Amino acid sequence: MPELPEVETVKRTLSELVVGKTISSVTVKWANIIKEPDDTKQFEMLLLNQTIREIRRRGKFLLFECDDVVMVSHLRMEGRYGLYKKDEELTPHTHVIFHFTDGDELRYQDVRKFGTMHIFPKGSEEGGLPLAQLGMEPFSEQFTAEVLQAAFSKTNRKIKVALLDQKTVVGLGNIYVDEALFRARIHPERLAQALSEEELIVLHHAIVTTLQEAVDLGGSSIKSYVNGQGEMGLFQQKLDVYGRKNEPCRQCGTEIVKIVVGGRGTHYCPNCQI
Ligand SMILES: [Zn+2]
Repeated sequence: MPELPEVETVKRTLSELVVGKTISSVTVKWANIIKEPDDTKQFEMLLLNQTIREIRRRGKFLLFECDDVVMVSHLRMEGRYGLYKKDEELTPHTHVIFHFTDGDELRYQDVRKFGTMHIFPKGSEEGGLPLAQLGMEPFSEQFTAEVLQAAFSKTNRKIKVALLDQKTVVGLGNIYVDEALFRARIHPERLAQALSEEELIVLHHAIVTTLQEAVDLGGSSIKSYVNGQGEMGLFQQKLDVYGRKNEPCRQCGTEIVKIVVGGRGTHYCPNCQI
């Protein structure tokens, strides 16, 4: 599943490709992806003659800002966008097609069909689900070690689980939680509320720097994920623990271990992380 750095990369590449284009019609081939409005015909109508003015990111969501509406899109497991000419053959798993007045098409492909799209009147998107329940952006000034401390003091969950839920800080998924916890030298099964003030300061710094470095390198590429222009992210080569089971820790040489925490495969160094 793409996490903040991958979604940010998709946002940047898609912005170059489609901002300024005007939608002449929309074809929905798999209705379940459309969550709001209920009716796919209405979804298609709301986007008619709308020009894409900007693409923003909130957490792992892409926000397509148009003249009057905002389309909120989550790629979930395998969703991806690609820009095509209208006469190019449709690839399998193309479920939504945004036809532009200039003859180009933005196609949404999703092998697993878990992705979602919501449309809101412009300006109201933050007030409704799915965005309303999201926590802070990791690169915002409001996100601090104190924010982590306040949120974690009220939970009995393990730190890995607490960081995944998007209610305190957004954008972290399985890869970047494992990487940030490694950098902070914190065992993923530690109870969030048991972390010391010093550990939370280090963890906060690890979250921000891990995500920033990954954004700078275009994200990671795990399984089928590629960015909007079909390029793979370079951060994959920098991963310290994720996907490195039985490989030596880059810090101490101990074999990286894989366990299950909160139902998710979790990688850590049993020597560096306590
Ligand atoms: Zn180690």
